[in-house]
Amino acid sequence: MERLDLIIIGAGMTGLAAARIALDRAPDLKILILEKSAGLGGRLATRRSPPAVFDHGAQSYPVSSCGPWHEIWKRSGRIDEWTDSNGVKVGSSRAGMTDLAKHLAQGLDIQKSMKAVQLKRQPTGWSVICETGEHWESQRVLITAPAPQGLALLEASQIPFPPGLAGLIYDPALVLLLGLERSPQGNDPFLDPVHPPILSVTDQELKKVSGTPAWTVVFDPEFSAKYFEADETEVKRLALEAFRNQFPSIPVRDAQLKKWRYSRPRQIWSEAAHAVQGSPGLVLAGDAFGGNGIDGALLSAKTSVSLLF
Ligand SMILES: Cc1cc2nc3c(=O)[nH]c(=O)nc-3n(C[C@H](O)[C@H](O)[C@H](O)COP(=O)(O)OP(=O)(O)OC[C@H]3O[C@@H](n4cnc5c(N)ncnc54)[C@H](O)[C@@H]3O)c2cc1C
Repeated sequence: MERLDLIIIGAGMTGLAAARIALDRAPDLKILILEKSAGLGGRLATRRSPPAVFDHGAQSYPVSSCGPWHEIWKRSGRIDEWTDSNGVKVGSSRAGMTDLAKHLAQGLDIQKSMKAVQLKRQPTGWSVICETGEHWESQRVLITAPAPQGLALLEASQIPFPPGLAGLIYDPALVLLLGLERSPQGNDPFLDPVHPPILSVTDQELKKVSGTPAWTVVFDPEFSAKYFEADETEVKRLALEAFRNQFPSIPVRDAQLKKWRYSRPRQIWSEAAHAVQGSPGLVLAGDAFGGNGIDGALLSAKTSVSLLF
């Protein structure tokens, strides 16, 4: 079996960026990324639902705190820039936010539909065992799953970690993907103001992601937590009712519901990535460490590589 320098668990922004940073520093490194889903990007998620296209996770990233990454993506011609409802300059990908992950993933060794379920300490590194029974050995392991999932993996592997990490909880998010009969008026993709229980509304057609009228509606943590486990037909009905209360004149053609169990971290750990004490070569990273959002994931990726090499 080929021995790897690094196994990264998770092909979201943190995992993919960490692989890129590590390979930029040392191109000969042997890195494998394991991703439990069939697709890449994690919470950078784009759904094609002909004729509409929806970003249903992250909608944009703040330009100023994603500096060099923004420049790379911009040079490749896939980015539009906007000013969001808080007056912050943000960037978004015209082919959908998943496209940023696909761009980062070019040339990387990624095994999709491969869920890591256990880590075993070896004399000079780690063995990572997957749900399929397949396993790989590596000197170092970087876990980039949302913190509760990363810690569940450590627990299943009987690897101790500071109890404070268990306090890294995430808010869930319920999201409505609405195909519309016609384009609403307006020229700003990020609608403002919106009121509880709606957290944000993004016009995917104005954001240039969808060729037809399509809105993504994210519900706030309170509403999302209250109805997360409820019957989906009922949740969709309640969510649509809340939407129509705020936007009575928007003609909805069809509606889909997306549920994120781990949407945004409620609090951020004091280190941008965490080296697990007593477990050499094992690091935890992600937005619960680097900070909420894509810029936080990028910061965590950079810090994790510095801890690992
Ligand atoms: C609805 C919503 C809206 C958002 N809006 C914005 C926004 O506008 N701007 C912004 O900056 N941020 C936004 N965010 C947050 C942003 O998407 C995240 O901060 C960022 O994408 C986190 O990236 P990550 O790589 O750390 O985690 P993730 O994207 O969650 O990636 C982790 C990956 O690990 C994989 N994984 C988990 N467990 C295992 C395992 N055992 N084995 C293998 N793989 C595993 C997962 O499948 C996933 O692909 C939003 C999030 C949501 C949900």
